[in-house]
Amino acid sequence: MVIKNLKSSLDKKNNEVIEEISRLSGGQISSLELMAVIYGFKPAMAEMVNFNKFSKSFINKLDRINELCKKISLHFVVSKYKFIINSPRGIFEMIDLDSPPKGKIAIGISKDKNAALEGVDLYYKKTLVSGGGRRFGQIMGYPECCLDFGDYLCNENVDPDNFGFKNPAAESLKRSEKFAWQLNVFTNSSLSYYPCTLNCQESIGYVNKLFKILKRIDVGRVEYLMGLLREPASLYWTCADKILLYGDFKGDFENSEIRYHKSVSMIDSGSFYQNNSSDFLNNLNNIYKKIQKGDRLIMTPAYFEIYKDKKRIVKIKKGNQYEPVLVKPNI
Ligand SMILES: [Zn+2]
Repeated sequence: MVIKNLKSSLDKKNNEVIEEISRLSGGQISSLELMAVIYGFKPAMAEMVNFNKFSKSFINKLDRINELCKKISLHFVVSKYKFIINSPRGIFEMIDLDSPPKGKIAIGISKDKNAALEGVDLYYKKTLVSGGGRRFGQIMGYPECCLDFGDYLCNENVDPDNFGFKNPAAESLKRSEKFAWQLNVFTNSSLSYYPCTLNCQESIGYVNKLFKILKRIDVGRVEYLMGLLREPASLYWTCADKILLYGDFKGDFENSEIRYHKSVSMIDSGSFYQNNSSDFLNNLNNIYKKIQKGDRLIMTPAYFEIYKDKKRIVKIKKGNQYEPVLVKPNI
């Protein structure tokens, strides 16, 4: 009983810190990842955080996050530069913190100060320096099988059939027959990396641990997150652009169909990246409008169609089989 009480008061204290850091960062510091670091099954976390101006109030927030981290024996480290991130993927430019363009800063959190420092240092090098990605993943505690997959995504042989980091979820999908709901990188992933397959046992184990702790400290959130991982099918272009569809789904990763009663747009590349193609975004938003008018979507490798009752609203040809896909976990 005494131990149980101690545990629950510790959970309460940890949860307060997690929630406040998440709030101060405007949700940009992942509370799930932070939880894994606090509870010791992830050695470190690193993230890029968006901000408009390197102002006094922003610095105050960073100071407050630093204090909160100290309170629970964590080290918090911030990059000395900001980064302009280009779409598609990868860091584009590194500039001074107080220069005018909008950008992101890298932050690192760990119980081990060196891991936090190295995490921040490698966050931008990981896309630029050979081997930087693997080292970064090791510090972050990613499984070996998924580190190997990360090496494959670096695509150093420039294989035209490998999307690499432009669309790593499509590469995970290509090597999977089973798709576990825990690894649903197509809706709202609980992982900070892309799993080697959608049935990677080590990654499933990590997500199960996350949910086990979250059940103790925030049951409502577990239900919400599980719903997002299990219920919708995802019409998925890339990590920043997808539309969730709720309804009766059937088929496989190539040919599938959904009769839907609800759709949710997660077309976010406009805010995710600093540079975007307006044609690409307009096209996706037009597709979403058609989806809102319809109730059924049919996906094939070459095209997809949206229907209302039996009437076809539109048929859209795809540039390649994997953009977009319509997928839902099957285990
Ligand atoms: Zn793996």
